[in-house]
Amino acid sequence: MSKKAIVIVIDGCAHEYLEQGVTKNISELGKRGFFKNVKSALPSVTNVNHATILTGSLPIEHQVTGNYFYNPETEEQGFIDGKGFLDKETILDVYAKQGNSTALLVVKGKVLQVFGDNVGFGLSAEHPDENLVKYLDMEMPPYVATPEANGWIMEACYNLIRKDNPDFIYCTTNDYTMHNYNPDHEIAKKQMESIDYWIGKIYELDPDREIYITADHGMTTKTLLIDLQKKMDNTSFDTVCMLPLKDRYLENHLYQEGCAVYVYAKDQSQKDDIYKHLKSYSFIESIYTREEAMDQLGLPGNRIGDFVIFGTKEVAFGELEDEELAVTVRTHGSKFEQDIPLIAVNARREASEYKRHFDVVRYMFEDLNISADQDLNLVK
Ligand SMILES: [Zn+2]
Repeated sequence: MSKKAIVIVIDGCAHEYLEQGVTKNISELGKRGFFKNVKSALPSVTNVNHATILTGSLPIEHQVTGNYFYNPETEEQGFIDGKGFLDKETILDVYAKQGNSTALLVVKGKVLQVFGDNVGFGLSAEHPDENLVKYLDMEMPPYVATPEANGWIMEACYNLIRKDNPDFIYCTTNDYTMHNYNPDHEIAKKQMESIDYWIGKIYELDPDREIYITADHGMTTKTLLIDLQKKMDNTSFDTVCMLPLKDRYLENHLYQEGCAVYVYAKDQSQKDDIYKHLKSYSFIESIYTREEAMDQLGLPGNRIGDFVIFGTKEVAFGELEDEELAVTVRTHGSKFEQDIPLIAVNARREASEYKRHFDVVRYMFEDLNISADQDLNLVK
């Protein structure tokens, strides 16, 4: 590696969370480097975007399409919170293999379980290793679904740099706060102030380090929830409507509500009629056939069903008692949560060369002469 680097992914950090006057260090870093808007990958959910950032490539290459999976052949389904889903090496894998020291510090335990295989120092606030916490001279972390857990993981980053100064660090938080509090809420401001404080300390400690601050997705307010599975079950169509945002963190989204759905036609002869039927729903903003999703969104055809749909701005899809529920929630998954900030200091390229969050790692691969398009075939 040329220079030491840290990538900080603030989970669910829509721009508004950085516009409350409490993130002065981040603003200052933006002045010294750059501060711009970039795009996340779709669907704009956590696993998809960590996989995208860490591999510097779109889902069609790394194969992670959600927090949840469904296999239409076996009808098996479940959470993506372990090994076996990611089909590409991450920058953590590659740097470690080349003898660099690496660290993955996360709030959500699943992020460490999915991406932490070869990492030198792996710590999650959800399932913390007591010895590592002691090593960092810290108290055990607060509960995962609290704003304080996010400040804690940033403090852990600072302490790790102070002690070991690892070559490459990837750090990410939990979007509990963003799901539950508007950007101008005191609790949200307090959390952002704490994250910002530790980012300032990290910069002070190691001002030559490449520092990138971004998000996995944004977050917006929704007022109508739709249970698409229930709606489709009340028609003559036989479908599985899979929610790619679905995960174990119910404190973040009580109804598993997110703004994207993968629709599988169980009876393929119904496919065209299902498409027409979905088109008639006013709560759907866009429908992509499998082929369109591959071409236009970079999604892998074998993991997204027959149709990928996104809700209109005020709509999210969840698991409900009835077909619909009028309720105000904050969530993500669609294009409306695709705009995210990227702040960088000591970046490898000019600001104009960063258009998507995963360009950060794409250029790291490029500098190692590893093209992101190349199938490294090393994970399996
Ligand atoms: Zn997230």
